[in-house]
Amino acid sequence: MKVGTLLIHNGHETDKTLGIPTGALGTPIYQTSTFEQGDFFKSGKTQEFDYARSGNPTRKALEETIAALEGGARGYAFSSGIAAVSSALGIFAAGDHVVAAEDIYGGSYRMFNTFYKRWGLEYTAVDASDPDNIKKALKFNTKALFLETPSNPLLKITDLRACLDIARSAGLVTIVDNTFMTPYLQRPLALGADIVIHSATKFLGGHSDVISGLAVTRTEELGKRLYAVQNGFGAVPGPWDCWIVQRGIKTLKVRLEAQQDAAMRLALWLKEQPNVEAVYYPGLAEHPGRAVHLAQADGAGAVLSFKTRTIEQARRFLAKTRLAAAAVSLGGVETIASYPVRMSHAAIPPAERARLGVTDTLVRISAGIEDADDLIADFSQALE
Ligand SMILES: *Cc1c(COP(=O)(O)O)cnc(C)c1O
Repeated sequence: MKVGTLLIHNGHETDKTLGIPTGALGTPIYQTSTFEQGDFFKSGKTQEFDYARSGNPTRKALEETIAALEGGARGYAFSSGIAAVSSALGIFAAGDHVVAAEDIYGGSYRMFNTFYKRWGLEYTAVDASDPDNIKKALKFNTKALFLETPSNPLLKITDLRACLDIARSAGLVTIVDNTFMTPYLQRPLALGADIVIHSATKFLGGHSDVISGLAVTRTEELGKRLYAVQNGFGAVPGPWDCWIVQRGIKTLKVRLEAQQDAAMRLALWLKEQPNVEAVYYPGLAEHPGRAVHLAQADGAGAVLSFKTRTIEQARRFLAKTRLAAAAVSLGGVETIASYPVRMSHAAIPPAERARLGVTDTLVRISAGIEDADDLIADFSQALE
């Protein structure tokens, strides 16, 4: 089955959590911290659930759903996307070395550069748009490669197959943050990755109403290692949040198709505007990474960015747009316009931002499901 069908038919069409056929089309929310274990003392029978940090039936339904969608052995849910990133890195030890793409999500960069560095996990950032840079960064103690494509906020493309091949021959565990694409558009495990990460806060939840993270492992063995961190580190989500994400996933296809269409319309329109200097969207024919992207993904996604000619124009756009929320985050049904230098990339030193091309004129758009004609009319008055 295609992912569009799997979003609905993934083993959780009806509730399986009770072991009795209630026929319920929704998964119950098990709002409990603990599970009665009397049977063990009566008959020695062990049971699947004992304490809700270790496992909860609502969470399990979501974890099995994301594993099915990404085509992996095991899925795990976390209290945020960053909790999923931190927990995945938690399978490594002090003295291990990780190679990561230099333009990964700002919060992931911070985990590497502050938190895990203090705990002795070595880290090298490379420009992964040239896979040779990964080869050059390998050391005797390199254990993992961490990638994200398209990148944020400039939508640069990393050749997943080429990079994952290099990593496999070096025996590395490969981790791909698939938040921007979702399994509907890109399935990194099928391209050779070992662990896929999501901020389910974004497209999977899809309604800007929950903070959530997910991870899927290619093998059972990696699944066991990640489960030890999920249970031991303890950054787990509550059952309500799992239920909200599980419900959001059901409509991922229709949302993302509509958002992607709107993103393409906006990109084509923006590049004709006199006050726009550049547009970054892998759906555009002139995008340098377009061919590589379309060889590894089924669409260009719903995030794009553009540079105005002056700083004033960018700031005025954010002040004047009525349909786009000037906010951080992305992937929701509502269009969001963010200003990376003051938001996602505020913590990165100005010189480093300049090197990465994140200027004061850059605006990032996450297209929502509004009518694209209305978005264009609104952007038009905001850019005047
Ligand atoms: C938002 C985001 C994260 C972090 O997720 P949270 O849910 O905010 O913790 C990680 N990676 C990417 C690509 C993101 O966009």
